Amino acid sequence: MDNCLFCRIVSREIPSRIVYEDELVLGFCDIAPKAPVHVLVIPKTHVASLNDLGKEHEGIMAHLTLAIPQVAEKMGIKDSGYRVVVNCGKDSGQEVAHLHYHILGGRAMENNFG
Ligand code: 5GP
Ligand code: ZN
Repeated sequence: MDNCLFCRIVSREIPSRIVYEDELVLGFCDIAPKAPVHVLVIPKTHVASLNDLGKEHEGIMAHLTLAIPQVAEKMGIKDSGYRVVVNCGKDSGQEVAHLHYHILGGRAMENNFG
């Protein structure tokens, strides 16, 4: 999608610090990190949110899930642990309408889900 921020990151129209890439998925550092490691993992294809997933995304989403521990390993937080967060819709505070998984680590997390 032309006017989607994260699609523009996928196409390199907007620069980002890319830490993981394969044919279906991109991982890049969040511009305003909430932890020492804060990576966003996204499908390269545009999907606005979890609510917009269909049967056709089954393969991509399985692939994305399998990429998460690979990203964690690359960022040095696989063994220390990490949190994965996905916001969906207004009440969650989702700001960017391109599905993204936050991977947060490098410090102990609070058990506070806001
Ligand atoms: P959301 O609130 O939609 O779940 O998360 C959106 C995330 O995208 C936020 O953590 C925000 O800091 C990050 N973000 C917003 N704009 C940019 C950008 O231009 N580049 C990068 N790398 N991250 C961004
Ligand atoms: Zn998009």
